[in-house]
Amino acid sequence: MSKVTKELIHPRSIVVVGASNDISKPGGKILMNLLDGNFKGELFASNPKEDEVQGVKSFRKLEDIPQVDMAILAVAAKHCLGVVDYLSHQRGTKAFIIISAGFSEENEEGRILEEQIVKILDETGSCLIGPNCIGVINTSYSGCFTWPIPKLDTNGVDFISGSGATAVYVMELAIPQGLTFNSIYSVGNSAQLGIEDMLEYLDDNFDPDTSSRVKLLYLEAVNKPQKLLKHASSLIRKGCRIAAIKAGSSEAGSRAASSHTGALANPDTAVDALLRKAGIVRCHSREELAVLGALFMHKELKGPNMAIITHAGGPAVMLTDILSNGGLKVPAISGPKADELLTHLHPGSSVSNPIDILATGKEEQLSACMEFADEHFEEIDGMVVIFGSPGLFSVDPIYDLLDEKMKTSKKPVFPILPSIINAKEEIDRFLSKGRINFPDEVAFGRALVQAYHTPEPVMAEELPDINREKIRSIVDGASEGYLNPELVQDLLDAAGIPTAKEIVVAEENSLFNAIKDIGFPMVMKVVGPVHKSDVGGVVLNVQSIEQAQIEFSRLMSIQDASAVLLQEMLSGQELFIGAKEEGDFGHLVMCGLGGIFIEVLKDVQASLAPLGSEEVDGMLLRLKGRKLLEGTRGQAGINIDSYKDCIRRVSALVSVAPEIAEMDLNPLLGTPEKVIAVDARIRIKSA
Ligand code: ADP
Ligand code: MG
Repeated sequence: MSKVTKELIHPRSIVVVGASNDISKPGGKILMNLLDGNFKGELFASNPKEDEVQGVKSFRKLEDIPQVDMAILAVAAKHCLGVVDYLSHQRGTKAFIIISAGFSEENEEGRILEEQIVKILDETGSCLIGPNCIGVINTSYSGCFTWPIPKLDTNGVDFISGSGATAVYVMELAIPQGLTFNSIYSVGNSAQLGIEDMLEYLDDNFDPDTSSRVKLLYLEAVNKPQKLLKHASSLIRKGCRIAAIKAGSSEAGSRAASSHTGALANPDTAVDALLRKAGIVRCHSREELAVLGALFMHKELKGPNMAIITHAGGPAVMLTDILSNGGLKVPAISGPKADELLTHLHPGSSVSNPIDILATGKEEQLSACMEFADEHFEEIDGMVVIFGSPGLFSVDPIYDLLDEKMKTSKKPVFPILPSIINAKEEIDRFLSKGRINFPDEVAFGRALVQAYHTPEPVMAEELPDINREKIRSIVDGASEGYLNPELVQDLLDAAGIPTAKEIVVAEENSLFNAIKDIGFPMVMKVVGPVHKSDVGGVVLNVQSIEQAQIEFSRLMSIQDASAVLLQEMLSGQELFIGAKEEGDFGHLVMCGLGGIFIEVLKDVQASLAPLGSEEVDGMLLRLKGRKLLEGTRGQAGINIDSYKDCIRRVSALVSVAPEIAEMDLNPLLGTPEKVIAVDARIRIKSA
């Protein structure tokens, strides 16, 4: 259960501790924002020198403060513990916002202070936002010390930010475009409540009739990946849409990875995979986040075909480019209905899409186009209306019509109103009706493409049928480090992953019998060194007993050699599958074209285990080398279903045996008939 208390969301009374008459100080501005905002409850101040602050009753001593639901602290860090202790124990205060810095972000002393505060709050069933944050704004109160305060609306965006300043700058971009907010939580150091916890709260309390459906996140760290995944996917399944920035790839790739595929993954790959699995659209800039927030406030686009209706050629062409290059379509429109539409337009207009009503086109023409696109052009899934002003006359009637049409239209309509100077007043009036503007068509188009291609959250699926008992018994009995070839073979067998026939030979006198089993041509590999080819430890196409004897002696003389592996010689397309443990994210499973391609092309796709069957389809679709798997220019493809099955089995294996730190099947050899692993490495992590 979420630790968020109802007092944090709808406090009936608030005290600002450290309130000031000086509104250039946080303790002054926060009180001012609360007074200016829509807070309907009782408001108090606390300041050792004042009986009244900004007209609000102020208490000089902590002990004088009456029962309050919420306390907002804008006092030095060292005073916070005492205040929290007193109010939570003596005054039943159930929600705290600590604005002050000087905690874990500063030094060890601050970290300890923070811990002590959280301990008290956990004991008393209270909750905390911060410390080191700008505060909280929602439809009940404006408990933050920054400007601007956006227009608040229960249908607006819920925005949870790991950085206060970034939250402000995102709002500064989004507010002029008309984006409204239901809540803004700046979680600061996330001492008790972090982004994941706020998301959990929104999920647990989601009401399909009243809750807002758009969530924006700014994450500096993903501290609780499983929680993020769980609640983001759940919210999206309930009909919400979520976009997030995750900044900083931090300790990228620094975690030791000795396998080749392992080195291709870093913590940012895991973040990417996590967001994709949850169905969150990942953004990389404030602008993208603001535009996606705006996009999500519109009806959802259900298909790829857009009609672009405009009186200006250039932006329509740029939008067509960005949509078409991004896999959406601006299909040609023709036929009797198109001809009929043309009769409503000025001579010279074009309906072929983009639909151009010319500079002389006004509301009647726009109205006809929107009506036809909505009702008659069945191939069209959504419309974009681009309408600016050269500054000659008012475009109010046009924007009024647009607003009306947006209300009645069955298909999503996206307004691109570029004249933010010429038509400023008209745009403002349009926004005051609760509308949002996309001033730039390319930024809009990019966001639309991104949102359209973000898959639905992955549903849990049954794992493929693998021998769990056998896997557990092998792993429980294994010591840390690389498993020997026999154990690797046993594990892959238990997971149902096909492998080449092989025999490990430690003594030359067992060589002959082993050869009889394997047959020629055969492959011989040194057992011991991790990267066998690098030390001359792989011999392909061994054709005779004599050659086998010579190679046996040579391979045994390689440093660290303990035995020689004999393997049947196969052929096929080289593929790889890898898995790597990524802390709390779980295991990343990777796939791609193997052999020499892997490091050069870096054509790798990664997803977090356990993998659903559609998720694997998605991975293979995103591979640049996809065509090679399907077969191209006379080259046979591979059995894609077998490859998929192997990928899902690797995912199931690491799910059943999370002790596997990394594993590497490189290569598997794929033919149209089957996919078989010829080289495998599995490393067990230290307990
Ligand atoms: P390592 O990765 O340790 O260098 P591998 O066992 O992957 O050793 O062998 C190196 C290369 O030899 C493989 O990438 C593959 O091209 C080829 N190879 C290995 N085993 C076989 C086999 N059984 N049949 C055909 N080719 C093989
Ligand atoms: Mg290999």
